[in-house]
Amino acid sequence: MQTRRGRFAPSPTGPLHPGSLLAALGSWLFARRGGGEWWLRVEDVDRIREVPGAALDQLEMLAAFGFVHDGPIVRQSDRDVLYAEALDRLLVDGHAFECHCSRSVLETQGGIHRACILGLQRPDPAIRLRVPDDCTVEFDDAVHGRQSQRIDRDVGDFVLRRADGCWAYQLAVVVDDAAQGMTEVVRGADLLDSTPRQMLLQRLLGMSTPGYAHLPLLVDAHGHKLSKSSSAHPVDRDDPLPALHEAWLQLGQIAFAASPQATSQEWLHDAVARFDPARIPREAQRIVP
Ligand code: GLU
Repeated sequence: MQTRRGRFAPSPTGPLHPGSLLAALGSWLFARRGGGEWWLRVEDVDRIREVPGAALDQLEMLAAFGFVHDGPIVRQSDRDVLYAEALDRLLVDGHAFECHCSRSVLETQGGIHRACILGLQRPDPAIRLRVPDDCTVEFDDAVHGRQSQRIDRDVGDFVLRRADGCWAYQLAVVVDDAAQGMTEVVRGADLLDSTPRQMLLQRLLGMSTPGYAHLPLLVDAHGHKLSKSSSAHPVDRDDPLPALHEAWLQLGQIAFAASPQATSQEWLHDAVARFDPARIPREAQRIVP
């Protein structure tokens, strides 16, 4: 039987905030219930947004919160060869093409690419996926239920390798989830609408599709999603239990009394036995300032 395997894959764009902790905890609970594996991946594919030192800081923070991972920790920056192989396959099969359109030109068509605007030639073309016409992708999300997206109309031909040479998240995540044998992807709801694109890529590359669960986002008092790069809401690694407890409640779980002397690993051990995925809310959760 295939090993059940989930992952947490933060981008090193700043210190983990309560929203990242919620995604880490949620992915850990999904994976560990029933004894599955939980892996870590450093998603440093976007070198421009990367903050030096953030990856190490995030890994230390996760360890301080008691999260023990399986498998090797991979970094996307070491995996160019895998992404290039997948891209070549898509190009050879006619599913991908060089695109010379600029963002400003695409704005004239609502930012959605369906056909290249003739006459433009850039030295550094992006590579896009040629999305078939009438391309509807449907899936069942473990939290949000049935989802459906018309990719050609709502997204268009999406980028696989950017004009600046960076791999696009959509390609890298699909290649990594397949290469690492992920059977489930549990992450924030901001990526719910990326999932159909990832499923289309899996199909075109002959890869299997994992199960998906998208956790509620945390928003601030103004309704804005918390971001690692703003670091306005740091989590205290020296006092992990209150933050874990808060994330547990944001996942809709029933409060339980842990011993104040419990280590975070003991707390996680107790939590996984009580975890009920059916209680996870769909709506964004507002954090108390
Ligand atoms: N790297 C993404 C982030 O930090 C998560 C991607 C994923 O889990 O698929 O938001």
